[in-house]
Amino acid sequence: DTLSKEPQPNGLSSVIPGWFSEISPMWPGEAHSLKVEKILFQGKSDYQDVMVFQSATYGKVLILDGVIQLTERDECAYQEMITHLPLCSIPNPKKVLVIGGGDGGVLREVARHSSVEKIDICEIDKMVVDVSKEFFPDIAVGFADPRVTLNIGDGVAFLKAAPEGTYDAVIVDSSDPIGPAQELFEKPFFESVARALRPGGVVCTQAESIWLHMHIIEDIVVNCRQVFKGSVNYAWTTVPTYPSGMIGFMLCSTEGPSVDFKHPVNPIDENDCQQVARPLKFYNREIHSAAFCLPSFAKRAIASK
Ligand code: SAM
Repeated sequence: DTLSKEPQPNGLSSVIPGWFSEISPMWPGEAHSLKVEKILFQGKSDYQDVMVFQSATYGKVLILDGVIQLTERDECAYQEMITHLPLCSIPNPKKVLVIGGGDGGVLREVARHSSVEKIDICEIDKMVVDVSKEFFPDIAVGFADPRVTLNIGDGVAFLKAAPEGTYDAVIVDSSDPIGPAQELFEKPFFESVARALRPGGVVCTQAESIWLHMHIIEDIVVNCRQVFKGSVNYAWTTVPTYPSGMIGFMLCSTEGPSVDFKHPVNPIDENDCQQVARPLKFYNREIHSAAFCLPSFAKRAIASK
């Protein structure tokens, strides 16, 4: 009776041989599955299990601790939205910090902004960087930009050490709050982000799913309201291979020049991107504004916090 068999820890399911099922206590009772053509890499770093496989219909897939981080087919939605929602909301971003983001995709998107002069990234797991460079060159291309400085370390410590008011924008491209990213969802971390941002600086964090994690999102909103005295907003986008087919973002600004996240002051679109190899596949100014329109249950829950 294969249905009773527990799935292997890396998600390679014994329930349907030849398929990867994303089974996790973070989304009980459901699991998205992808047909596996070939396993390309399996390893264990000091922080997590790392796996790459060729899927039948979503290109290559990066898995950390049994959780889908990206697929070649739909990574554009996540990387473009988590980057351009904050950077298109402020004029002339110059200094940007990425926490996590070891696949290089956010770096690739930040590099589209010609006003940016310096891009720091702090990724805890070197294995993710190395594996991304080997198997996802079109995503890890972000590391090649001369403005990028790669720090291998814990984002929590990096932000604690960052001088006050250093950055125009911080993008927290983290995995989920089970594992090394847990502290990236807690108030002390948000306080260190606020301190490292200039007045009117912005932060955008990966903020889970309104279908699955409303309670986590409400806690994050409460903390952000206490820490970020500019504005606190929740936006979302569709990513077919993320649990519930979507992912959200917290977009906050520090006290200072006001930031209207819903109406991009520094819009980019496919025509502005000659300097990078590929045009935008997902982001545009209409979808930027639409990202902040929420279903009533989420709007009510967030407004009540
Ligand atoms: N798009 C994915 C998502 O929404 O789940 C995230 C992709 S990216 C691969 C997540 C990265 O965060 C991983 O490479 C992981 O190693 C990194 N990470 C987790 N905890 C971290 C920490 N405390 N400091 C720095 N990087 C961290």
